[in-house]
Amino acid sequence: RLVLGIETSCDDTGAAVLDEKGVILGECLHSQKEVHLRTGGIIPSVAQRLHRENIEHVVREALQRSGVEPSQLTAVATTVKPGLALSLAVGLEFSQRFVRQHKKPFIPIHHMEAHALTARMLHPIAFPFLVLLVSGGHSLLAVARGVDDFLLLGHSLDEAPGDTLDKVGRRLSLTKHPQCYTLSGGQAIELLAKEGDRTKFPFRTPMGQTLDCCFSFSGLRNQVTMTIMKKEAEEGVEQGTLLSCVNDIAAATLHTVATHLAKRTHRAILFCKANHLLPLTSPTLVLSGGVASNQYIRKALTIITETTGLRLLCPPAKFCTDNGVMIAWNGVERLREGKGILPPNVDICYEPKAALGVDMTAEVR
Ligand code: ATP
Ligand code: FE
Repeated sequence: RLVLGIETSCDDTGAAVLDEKGVILGECLHSQKEVHLRTGGIIPSVAQRLHRENIEHVVREALQRSGVEPSQLTAVATTVKPGLALSLAVGLEFSQRFVRQHKKPFIPIHHMEAHALTARMLHPIAFPFLVLLVSGGHSLLAVARGVDDFLLLGHSLDEAPGDTLDKVGRRLSLTKHPQCYTLSGGQAIELLAKEGDRTKFPFRTPMGQTLDCCFSFSGLRNQVTMTIMKKEAEEGVEQGTLLSCVNDIAAATLHTVATHLAKRTHRAILFCKANHLLPLTSPTLVLSGGVASNQYIRKALTIITETTGLRLLCPPAKFCTDNGVMIAWNGVERLREGKGILPPNVDICYEPKAALGVDMTAEVR
């Protein structure tokens, strides 16, 4: 069995061909990150134009590298939810044309489910397991019970941690910082934090009073912005030109994000244990999403998993961010179980907003 996976939900045009064991036969990824970094955020119409310009050759490259002809494919899997409408549309339109032309089954994929299951391509992880997904667009805790069976324990009430780090990075103009020209806000803050003293700015950890598993990052971003403004005023420098305490602000911001993620994950683990939602032997926490490549955050979560007896698994950075491989893998998993496979001529719509699994957030206390 051979699956072609296609991803265009945000700002990466990705394609990959996988066999049924999850061996990557060929892949290709075109990232728009540098363009969006220059404009200070994603402009959906620009993202769409870039997906349109690249999708043909990204898919052709992935197929060519795999040595697989379209006729040899078993199915095509494509992200159809959630994501930017204009971006999702490009992948879906392309895929529907492709499956009709080559008469192949179509497997619509939920982007967050794909993130959650990617770790199973790399490690033998049995269902159920706990997953923390943290990226530029998402922040959620869920129990993965099956290929299409998820319990949502918590999500962000406002923005996602990667978005917060990107916004703080932009407010500090970190792309003008000599060490950080080509880095995302999250990567820049991780790098600068290494030379910083987090105790100089004791930001409050979000949601200290609530006992659920939800996240909030906008209040932290306000605290950080106020601090930056105060420092700029004290030093009499223009907005975005602070130099003196950037490392300390980065360290304090990252520490607060990591503490918040770790505390919420700890709650989720206790909830799962109390309600027997995880297996007794080898219970696992999978950490994924773009923010998961942050070593400081990984360390914070290692402390939580070690004290609660869970195994922590985190895919390598290239599988934590958006790519065609994870979409193809989700297609492989669905093919194995015969779940969600459509004939080539079925019309389906993309869904910019799509919850992950059964919403249990109100029950988690
Ligand atoms: P989605 O939420 O749909 O997955 P996305 O494109 O925002 O979309 P990713 O590509 O998974 O998600 O991740 C990008 C985000 O990860 C950015 O916000 C970036 O700042 C953050 N990020 C990347 N590397 C690091 C790092 N080392 N530390 C912290 N954050 C990071
Ligand atoms: Fe993603």
